[in-house]
Amino acid sequence: MAKRDYYEVLGVPRTASLDEIKSAYRRLARQYHPDLNAANPKAAEEKFKELSEAYEVLADPEKRRRYDVGGFSSVETDFGPGGFTWSNFTHVGDLEDLFASNPIFQQFFGSMGIGGFAGRAAAGPRKGSDLEVTVRLPVSAAVTGASPTIEVPLVEACSACGGNGAKDGTSLQTCATCGGSGQLRRSQSRGFTQMITIGVCPQCDGAGQRILERCPKCRGSGTQRVVRKIQVRVPPGIEDGAVLRLSGQGSAGPPGGRPGDLYVQVRLTSSDRLRRDGKDAYTEVTVPLATALLGGEVTVPTVTGTAIVKVPAGTQPGQTLKLRGEGFPELDGSRRGDLYAVVRVEIPTELSSRQRELIAEALGGDKAKPRTSRRVPLFGHRP
Ligand SMILES: [Zn+2]
Ligand SMILES: [Zn+2]
Repeated sequence: MAKRDYYEVLGVPRTASLDEIKSAYRRLARQYHPDLNAANPKAAEEKFKELSEAYEVLADPEKRRRYDVGGFSSVETDFGPGGFTWSNFTHVGDLEDLFASNPIFQQFFGSMGIGGFAGRAAAGPRKGSDLEVTVRLPVSAAVTGASPTIEVPLVEACSACGGNGAKDGTSLQTCATCGGSGQLRRSQSRGFTQMITIGVCPQCDGAGQRILERCPKCRGSGTQRVVRKIQVRVPPGIEDGAVLRLSGQGSAGPPGGRPGDLYVQVRLTSSDRLRRDGKDAYTEVTVPLATALLGGEVTVPTVTGTAIVKVPAGTQPGQTLKLRGEGFPELDGSRRGDLYAVVRVEIPTELSSRQRELIAEALGGDKAKPRTSRRVPLFGHRP
């Protein structure tokens, strides 16, 4: 998907006031609220993310000014290497009144790892850390799709103890201090008031179990560093810089916590002769003078290799040859765009006297004699 202009995303003019931007965002957020799009929550979430990225930039006068001057590249450093993620969104509060009463929406934000809604309880055990890697593929992968295998250094649960840090995973004992709950309740009486405080059990550090003998492999940490090979499915139609999210493929969390996610940024390397604009591709093709005059065939660089194309007689420099269906597919792999090849006509720089004669005879001009130009003085030039 080509990145859309932030003003276009929010449907506001470039001169819009902050209030107008805010009300446009709130209106659209209500529309693409995942709860109201049960039929296609994934698409709604994408849409909602696009809106939120636009709002994140335009609601901040400083970011907006930079974007107005320098476009996407001048604000993308504010986000991670994979672009805008929910952790970059700082305006959850602007939606609070809309969604605070809606548990599904809160859950949506909660699962994105961002808070901001008043009264939302911090959820259970911590999640493992998210990882980001970059994979470089030839631009043809945008047509064919690809399944590269990447190597990801990460932390996973120790294979010897299963992540609890005890020898063989079994050398444990329920903590006697807290009875396995990991929490300690203390009650204090002050006059007529009884105060109850709940704290983490100091004996087991909240784990509820005590390790009798530590796992020799991980020395009790429950984790190990590995390099995991992961095959990534890159769909046809992928854009350069797009980020794929592999849920649960990040580092392991602490026992009980879910693993983090893996974000794979796809960089497409293309020759500098090929330019992409959404589904369409643009290139240049050099046509020999005789072929341009008389017609013939030329080889055009394409997204996946080369193609032989018929050039009509009388082809002009700057003319565009359209190769239907040789562009990039849509993200679902359906219909491909077109490839446009702009013609450069190659004019020979050296001619034999015979060639000069023949061309002069056929196309006119000053016979075989080399033409001497009239001297024209340059403006402002003193001899
Ligand atoms: Zn271990
Ligand atoms: Zn304990």
